[in-house]
Amino acid sequence: MSLKEAEQELVEVVGRKYVLSSRTDLALYECDAETLDLALPDLVVLPASTDEVSSVVKIANKYKIPITPRGAGTGLSGGATTVTGGISLPLTRMTRILSIDPDEMTAHVEPGVTNIGVSRAVHKHGLYFAPDPSSQVASTIGGNLAENAGGAHTLKYGMTTRHVLGLRMVLSDGSIATFGGPWRSSIGLDLTGVVVGSEGTLGVVTEVWLRLTPEAQSVETMLAYFPDLESGGDAVSRIIAAGIIPAAMEMIDRLSLTCVEQSLHLGLNLDAGALLIVEVDGPRAGIEIQRKEVERIVFEKNALEVKWAHDAKERASIWKARKSAFGALGRIAPNAYVLDGVIPRSRLKEAIQEIAQIGAKYKLPISNIYHAGDGNLHPALLYHRDDDDEVRAVLLAAKEILEMCVNLGGTLSGEHGIGIEKLAEMPFAFTEEELNAMRSLRACFDPDGLCNPGKLVPAPKTCGESGMRPLLRHRLSAC
Ligand SMILES: Cc1cc2nc3c(=O)[nH]c(=O)nc-3n(C[C@H](O)[C@H](O)[C@H](O)COP(=O)(O)OP(=O)(O)OC[C@H]3O[C@@H](n4cnc5c(N)ncnc54)[C@H](O)[C@@H]3O)c2cc1C
Repeated sequence: MSLKEAEQELVEVVGRKYVLSSRTDLALYECDAETLDLALPDLVVLPASTDEVSSVVKIANKYKIPITPRGAGTGLSGGATTVTGGISLPLTRMTRILSIDPDEMTAHVEPGVTNIGVSRAVHKHGLYFAPDPSSQVASTIGGNLAENAGGAHTLKYGMTTRHVLGLRMVLSDGSIATFGGPWRSSIGLDLTGVVVGSEGTLGVVTEVWLRLTPEAQSVETMLAYFPDLESGGDAVSRIIAAGIIPAAMEMIDRLSLTCVEQSLHLGLNLDAGALLIVEVDGPRAGIEIQRKEVERIVFEKNALEVKWAHDAKERASIWKARKSAFGALGRIAPNAYVLDGVIPRSRLKEAIQEIAQIGAKYKLPISNIYHAGDGNLHPALLYHRDDDDEVRAVLLAAKEILEMCVNLGGTLSGEHGIGIEKLAEMPFAFTEEELNAMRSLRACFDPDGLCNPGKLVPAPKTCGESGMRPLLRHRLSAC
């Protein structure tokens, strides 16, 4: 690649200020929130419009430089890490809300708008954007779309893919295509559906049409403390079996609870082994019946104590506890390797026990934060990145936990994507034929393999990943 010439041409497109090449600047983009894998980009380019993205991608294509789109860099699977170098392309200057249609309940936005930014902008119309990752204050619509993000309320309202009507994207040759739009449509292949969750490997999304959701008439939020995760897990299965679909059912273990309390001083009960948050919402008529039934079930399943939020302020404080849980783990170790396996809800108890055994085997503290209602587990393995033995233990433990999820009838990822983190596990979850179908589709969009290479779909066995920077996981070759 002829980087110097490319850099000069890129400066002409976006301006000197928006092409970064000093080591200090590049270091800010060497990873996302998965901090085990670090790789410096060669350049960081910050475009401000679809046309600028198109020109940047044309230059990258001309010089055959890999390009990795980036949102806020909160990803937990290394998706925005430039594992083959090249251009890191943050879309964070593209933050315009282009239009809001309250009657159609849609919004047309640029990819750099934060998730919460959309909900704040449409709140005056009694609407919100339903996918609510815990990172919603920082993470962008582009990143949410590329990872098919979920959140606490995915249980009832579904993942990002259910809330994206259409998108505009710059393809790998720099041309601009629009798939779907601000309407419901079933014409041709569902390429919007293909792009959602494609982790930046098919092109760069520059505009998105979002489906908005009316705010619920009434909401009730409960904290239930349990002696252990297992009894909390039993309550979760029982609530769903009773025919109730809460808006959210989230569970955190004692370790996470303690870290949250030490950080936020919310008065949480630290004698409990697990905390379950259940939120029910809907029309006013009927909510009281759901509330009573949920309370009856959690006590039947050995809840130690139950507290309902009395008002919006108390509800916000409950969600603050849950959404701050990952950050609070920094009190225990500087690094957390957050897994994202999915299991059938009915196997929750077994999974909880196996994770504890794996943690003991590798002598790793593991905190457990679950979207328990839909079986999406986030065990966080806490470690020190500068300790090779601990890193090796993390990689081996992670592999065992992910394979356990697949063996229990689940899968590798519920919402964080594959990125670099779970790449080696893909053949465990998919056959070679299935992986080949993904490779072929990717090659149609990106024949030269320039869009976020080294992510999502592993190269065929015979090829290996070409041009990869030496990553810590490869040096330690634990898996
Ligand atoms: C504390 C914490 C809590 C979290 N909680 C949740 C949660 O509850 N649910 C959940 O789903 N995730 C969660 N995450 C993970 C992360 O926030 C999400 O994956 C989020 O969607 C990433 O958005 P981002 O803007 O940070 O994207 P980035 O991390 O910058 O990028 C993510 C991927 O998207 C691609 N990408 C970004 N923008 C574009 C674009 N415009 N076009 C094409 N590709 C693009 C990148 O190449 C990369 O592959 C959490 C992370 C943290 C740190």
